[in-house]
Amino acid sequence: MEEYDVIIIGAGPGGLATAIYTGRAGRNTALIERGIPGGLIATTDRVENYPGITDISGAELADRFKEHAEKFGAEIIRDEVTSVKVSGAQKVARSVRDEYRAPVLVVASGSAPRSLEVSGEDRLRGRGVSYCATCDGAFFRDRPVACVGGGDAAVQEAVYLTRFASEVYLIHRRDELRAVRELQRRAEKNDGLQVIWNSVVREIQGEERVENLLLCNVRSGEESTLSVDGVFIYIGSKPATGFLDQKVKLTEEGYIPTDDHMRTDVPGVFAVGDVRERIQRQISTAVGDGATAAMAIEEYLADRA
Ligand code: NAP
Repeated sequence: MEEYDVIIIGAGPGGLATAIYTGRAGRNTALIERGIPGGLIATTDRVENYPGITDISGAELADRFKEHAEKFGAEIIRDEVTSVKVSGAQKVARSVRDEYRAPVLVVASGSAPRSLEVSGEDRLRGRGVSYCATCDGAFFRDRPVACVGGGDAAVQEAVYLTRFASEVYLIHRRDELRAVRELQRRAEKNDGLQVIWNSVVREIQGEERVENLLLCNVRSGEESTLSVDGVFIYIGSKPATGFLDQKVKLTEEGYIPTDDHMRTDVPGVFAVGDVRERIQRQISTAVGDGATAAMAIEEYLADRA
């Protein structure tokens, strides 16, 4: 059993920013992360909208956040929290192999990619079905691929995939993209990218690997087959809050409501970043959450002393 002042679950931008502040304030801080530090940014190609840094790879920005948190003494632990105990003054985060205790628990577990839930998706996952272009894009050099979705992530990653793939088809269910104007502009002027409008994927087909997508035009109802070797799915994300087992109040979709200080309905439990009920899901907003939470954490710990 390990004891800390602050336990942060998840080392994405929100969790790491919290740790930079609490560590700098001299609080013994543990950051528990099941994957690689950085969260979703670690799997993002380029970041161009983080103030003060005009252009950086997601992986490098993630590394810088991690180094910064470690500089101020945060301990980054590779482990997966499977349950929590939040009643009482001492909160507990449990994994299969260990137990971590602290008066303050920060939920920064982010969100995981949503799946299309169509036939073939699970069976061909890792065999042409991917949720991370930065991780898998290079496997599709000179081969045709599709990207599904119309938000910032789908458009950004579709543009990225044109570096490798012979053709990139962006399949969107409406006739208008949700992505910001600048990303739309880049997609429009990229000859390697073709948008298939008003269409959804009905089925992902292939024996050993992805071979075809069965598409349906939502306006005409017409079905067609698109031959691709890979399909990258970017249709949003769902919050990673299962391990809380409803011990902290959640929205119907599983996000955590907080007040302006990132406090949840349980005293001593805070939430930051994409896991929080909110509209914006940006690196800078997650970092802002972390800074705000850290101030409220100081106040909470001072009141207990
Ligand atoms: P998002 O903005 O929620 O977009 C999801 C897209 O998937 C939408 O276009 C949606 O269509 C489509 N979609 C949802 N369910 C679908 C389904 N079952 N079948 C087909 N299409 C479906 O998600 P996101 O792109 O992952 O972005 C999440 C957040 O991260 C946003 O706040 C975004 O701004 C941020 N982000 C920012 C950047 C950046 O600034 N460069 C990069 C990546 C992400 P509709 O449009 O019809 O709803």
